[in-house]
Amino acid sequence: MILVSSCLLGNPARFDGKSRPCPLLVKYKNCGHFLPICPECAGQLPIPRPPAEIQHDSGAAVWQGQCRVKDSSGLDVTENFCRGALVCASLSKKYKITAVILKERSPSCGVHAVYDGSFSKTALPGQGVAAAYLAHMGYKLYSEEDLTEGLLLKLLAEDTES
Ligand code: SF4
Repeated sequence: MILVSSCLLGNPARFDGKSRPCPLLVKYKNCGHFLPICPECAGQLPIPRPPAEIQHDSGAAVWQGQCRVKDSSGLDVTENFCRGALVCASLSKKYKITAVILKERSPSCGVHAVYDGSFSKTALPGQGVAAAYLAHMGYKLYSEEDLTEGLLLKLLAEDTES
C-alpha cells in the first residue's frame, strides 16, 4: 500500500473543511493501492480547526523537543500532531507501506518545506511532524509536487511486486 495525505485524494480533512485534490492521485484513486490518512485528524483535531504551524522550525525539531506546534489562536497542539504521526507510523507498519505521498508545506505532511510559524504563507525547508517521523522510520517520501504520472506508475508497480 501507498500512504497518501487524505486531502490530496479529495477528502475534506483540511483545517478549513476543504480538500486539496491532486488530479493525478484522484485519477488513480480507485487503484486499490492507496491508504488515505490525515495525521491531524488521527491526532484527534476536529474539522474545521484553526490553522496550525510549527513555530519557526520543522518536524524534526519538534521531535527533538526544540520547538512546538501552535494554532493561530496560540493553542499548543504539539501533542495532537505527535499522536497523529504515531498513528500514521503504526498504520504504515500494519499495511506494509512501500511509499508515502504527502501534501507539501503542511505542518504535518510537508515533505520538503513547511510554513514558518508566522501564518504569513512563508515556507522554510524541512518536513512536517508526521513526515519527519515517517522519514526517520526509513519510508520513501514524496510530495504531490514531486509526482509525475511515470513516477506514480513506478510506485504502483513496486507496490504490486512487494
Ligand atoms: S494534515 Fe495532511 S492530510 Fe490532513 S489536511 Fe493537512 S495536509 Fe491534508
